[in-house]
Order: sequence, then structure tokens, then C-alpha cells
Amino acid sequence: MRNLLFIGIFIFGSAFMNPEPPVIKSLIADDLPFLLEFYKTRHQNPEISLQEKETSKALATELRTAGFDVTENFGGYGVVGILKNGDGPMILVRTDMDALPMEEKTNLEYASHATCEYAGQITGSMHSCGHDMHMTSWLGTARLMAKMKNEWKGTLMMIGQPAEEIGEGSELMLKAGLYEKFGVPDYGMALHCSPTIPAGQVGFGKGYTMANTESIDIKVFGVGAHGAAPHMSIDPVVIGSMIVMDLQTIVSRNLKPTESAVVTVGAIKGGIKHNIIPDEVTLKLTVRTYTPEVRAMVHKRIKEICRGVAIAAGLSEDKMPEVTIPASFTPANYNHPDLVDKMMVAAGKMIGEENVVDVEPLMLGEDFARFGQTEDKVPTVLYWLGTVPESRIAEGDLPGLHSPFYYPTPEKTIETGVAVMSQSLMDVFNF
Ligand SMILES: [Zn+2]
Ligand SMILES: [Zn+2]
Repeated sequence: MRNLLFIGIFIFGSAFMNPEPPVIKSLIADDLPFLLEFYKTRHQNPEISLQEKETSKALATELRTAGFDVTENFGGYGVVGILKNGDGPMILVRTDMDALPMEEKTNLEYASHATCEYAGQITGSMHSCGHDMHMTSWLGTARLMAKMKNEWKGTLMMIGQPAEEIGEGSELMLKAGLYEKFGVPDYGMALHCSPTIPAGQVGFGKGYTMANTESIDIKVFGVGAHGAAPHMSIDPVVIGSMIVMDLQTIVSRNLKPTESAVVTVGAIKGGIKHNIIPDEVTLKLTVRTYTPEVRAMVHKRIKEICRGVAIAAGLSEDKMPEVTIPASFTPANYNHPDLVDKMMVAAGKMIGEENVVDVEPLMLGEDFARFGQTEDKVPTVLYWLGTVPESRIAEGDLPGLHSPFYYPTPEKTIETGVAVMSQSLMDVFNF
């Protein structure tokens, strides 16, 4: 097949030919020892959001070695690598770089023993969301695309994004002028480790695949009193509890049954002692939606319910609950259907169609979404990279992302990550 490929290139010119999957696979196999080492180094040296100093330096150094023109510290510790390779589309490929402030409990021989300071405390740090694997697949792709420059035309924009775990990194890079300085890409691609899909497979969803994710705070006021004299109070604990119950009706009664949303009260705090009715209670909510319309409806109902319950309790106008909805939130991820189709075909060529699976939308958040939601409306796709070792599937032992026990099986996951992303790029560059 290799000979046929080279004859084809000779006759028709490289811009119109896609390299055969076996060529890409053998290049990945050659690079695997390097990538494995890179993965373990990143795994053992995690850095949490907005502290990705050494991680971003490592990515920048490797990209430069691969022949990219690299800009560092772009939007926090953001890295931008550009490889111009003739006329053709510009494609953005993102990796995130940050880890989480938690102690690793995998007992792997390459487990992280690193620590970090978080919220004033020293704690362990760990790549429990697989961003170390994202970086490795991303770097493997960059190296392979640089080696195969004769097989595609266009501009490859590889970006290392900081602070994904706090939903801020993509905004930092866009606000720093990513598209103004380097150009608006024609397409954007990224992957995320899946804690349920087996290594060797990838998963795609079309349209909305992840949710608008936002944190809303509610401060409920009341009139405090002795716990034995409740008639002297307007009890904010009771008002807060009624609000929590009424909030449940937003999804069950106000939302169209065919739409989706989540309204979760994750924290309720008020009072200090058994026999004191406090004068304030706070509620902390996470709200997940897909469309702007549903999001606006949920906001409206939260405000109406809070106000309605407070009025019914007899509170005066100056003691209405305060609902704080931050202007900034992680927007819903939208996978462009045509680009998904192209990438699923590309993935099938590399790993077999049976290993390319459909994935249902989730209510998680991922700030990659923002790269497709500027006024330029860049078509983007964020897909799932299977990571689960076969031994764990057999045992039914499947820790989720952000678990101290989560880890991808490295070799197979790296191979699949690089293969699918590289073939997707080849196909879209040469389309
Ligand atoms: Zn995460
Ligand atoms: Zn993540």
C-alpha cells in the first residue's frame, strides 16, 4: 500500500492525496516511546488552574522543536503554535493544561506526589480530568502533522489553553486577541478523555453535547428570633427550604418535556445554634441548560419563586431575596454536525467504524465551547477519547473524571488520540 501511495502522490500531487492510515499508524508507533515518557512526566508534574507555568513551557518547547512558530504567555499561560503550510484552511486544535487540587490515589508507579496551594491550604494535585492525556495526544498530533507536511496544505494552529477547570481559559485566550492576532480558524477541534468509553474507541455527539454551566447564589433574608418564640420571627430557614422545594418545579413544571435543564441546590447555609432563628440563609445553585431560551426561562423562574415565597412569608420589599447570576458562565458546547460527520469518517479509517460510537449529550461544562461562539461562529467539535483499561471494564471498576482513582490506560489511549486527531486534520485539510 505504501508504494501505491507514493506513486499516487507522484502522479497527482500531494495536496489532493490523503496518506494511507498504515503510514500514519507506523509513524505513531515510532513516536510512542517519546509520547509515553512525555505523558508520565506531565502526569507527575500537575499544575492547577492559572498556575500552568512549567506545563506551558514544556508544550512551547516541544512545539518549537517540531517546527512551529510559538507564542507563550498568551492569555495567562496560554500557548499558541502556528505551522503555515501553503494555501488551505486554518484549523485550531486545543489542549487544556490544568490539573485539580486533589491527592492521587491510583497507586500507579508514575502517580503524582505533587502538592499545591489551594484556598489557603496545601493539598495534593493530580491530573484527574485527563488533561495530561489531552496534551500528549495534542503534541503527538503536532509532531505527526509536522512530519507529514507534504501530505496537507493549510495552517495548523495548536493551542495550549490554561484554566479549563475554572471555565476561564478559553475566554482569557480569546480576550487576549487569539483570532485577531493569529487569524480566525476555519475549524476547531478538541478531545476530552472519557471515563466510560474503552481505550481504542472514540465517541461523538452532534449539536449540543455539553451544557451552559453557571453558579447562582441566593441570599434569603428574614427576621431572627429566639428558637422558642418563632412567632416573633420571619424564619429564613423555612423560607429557604420552601424556595429549595419550589425550585424543583422549574424542571418538572415549567420546562417543555422535550427540553433539558438541571437546577441543583448544592449548598444551603444558615444559622449557628439550635435555639436561634437566624436572619439570613444562603443557597448555592448549579444551573445547567443547553439553549439561550431555556437558560433565560430558568433565570426568570428562579427570581419569581424567590420573590413569591418571600412575599407569602410576609417579608417587606427591602428584605426580598437577592439572586446573584454572574455575567460570566461556561457556554454550552455545540458540535457542528457536518464537521462531526467528516471526523467520524476519519476516525473510522484509523480505528475501524465499530470503534466510533455515538454519545448522548451530558450536562457537564467545557469551556472549549467558546472558541466556536465568537461572532465568527467557527465550526467546532469536541469529542470523547476512550481511556478505560480492559481490566477495569471486566471488574466494573470505572472511577469517573475528578476521582482520585481515575487514570487512562496510556499506550492505547495515546495511539488512538493521535491517530483520530491526525486523520481528522488530514481529511479536513485535504477536503
Ligand atoms: Zn475536569
Ligand atoms: Zn477536563
